[in-house]
Amino acid sequence: MRQSSKLLLIQILARILTMTSNLWAQNSKTSPTKLLDEIISRANQEYASLEQLYKHLHTNPELSFHEEKTSARVAEELEKTGFTITRNIGGHGVVGVLKNGNGPAVLVRTDLDALPITENTGLEYASKVRVHDDQNNEVGVMHACGHDIHMTSFIGAARLLSQLKNQWRGTLVFIGQPAEERGGGARAMLTDGLFTKFPKPDYCVAWHDASDLPAGTVGYCEGYALANVNSVDVTIRGVGGHGAYPHTTKDPIVMAAETIMALQTIVSREMKPIDPAVVTVGSIHGGAKHNIIPDEVLLQLTVRSYSDHAKEQTLKAIERICQGIAIAAGVPENRMPIVKVQDEFTPSTYNDPALVKRMAASMQAILGADKVVAKEPVMGGEDFGEYGR
Ligand code: ZN
Repeated sequence: MRQSSKLLLIQILARILTMTSNLWAQNSKTSPTKLLDEIISRANQEYASLEQLYKHLHTNPELSFHEEKTSARVAEELEKTGFTITRNIGGHGVVGVLKNGNGPAVLVRTDLDALPITENTGLEYASKVRVHDDQNNEVGVMHACGHDIHMTSFIGAARLLSQLKNQWRGTLVFIGQPAEERGGGARAMLTDGLFTKFPKPDYCVAWHDASDLPAGTVGYCEGYALANVNSVDVTIRGVGGHGAYPHTTKDPIVMAAETIMALQTIVSREMKPIDPAVVTVGSIHGGAKHNIIPDEVLLQLTVRSYSDHAKEQTLKAIERICQGIAIAAGVPENRMPIVKVQDEFTPSTYNDPALVKRMAASMQAILGADKVVAKEPVMGGEDFGEYGR
């Protein structure tokens, strides 16, 4: 518990610093050291009430696209700090704007949603929430991804920036975004006019808690940080029959095996080695019995990349290989494989190197150089990249 508390405080501080580093230089009246002391002392003053907020959010998690109460609470807290609030942007999205003279517009994003996981931590404020998900399965709900920490530090940052208004100039756009876990929340807010109905940001800032760094340490990543994520469904169609008479069939099981192996050559043989991509077949389903050759086999793939070129190249190669193996097996024209790239797509996150350097330097000033470390990019996905695009 102490660790998570510390992490929370650091996140609040880091977020404030991030923000002030963007805006503060515009109109400094106080020396940097004095300002940092003031930030720390105000963060400490807010800490107890923020911890209460954190526990409340942790106890009451809501699934993606169902963040009704969470969104209401975030809006209420943000409104109390003096932000002008608009609710229900892109579903349960919240937008808070604080105008404070001429200067850049900075967007700060927190996500709102939790995961369908049953909590077993035994904490006194553990979630006991159980709901029916969109497939009508009963599931536990938990802030297992830490979005409760994001929301709490977001509110902490809003409070301090509002209190320290005489130290900066510009416009803050604080957004509570729904449905980060399932993707789609960022796009829904943008489609609903985030950049047209509200001040368009010069910078967008967000972060995520991480389990691979010690508490109290902040990691940053310049350039590509997270990947494009595509989900692909492949239906390999053959001609089924009896397993004892294979010559009368076109066996989709054998084709699936060949296809999976051939897909492994996309990254190793076709892609430029310095333009990363991943092709993972995560699911294969076909057949029902030892001696029956089925009509089809279903594959589910996740495809990752950084550049759009790598994304297009990988998806085209998957289509070509699936078709090619079917042709080689002599599958009739009307039984060619169906390759469906799902519409839901999370774009890669590219962090502006100049802004990252500036933020890292300002965080190092307060946390110490050893507590702010460069991290390697990963091929995981998150829809924050949507705003940069
Ligand atoms: Zn998350």
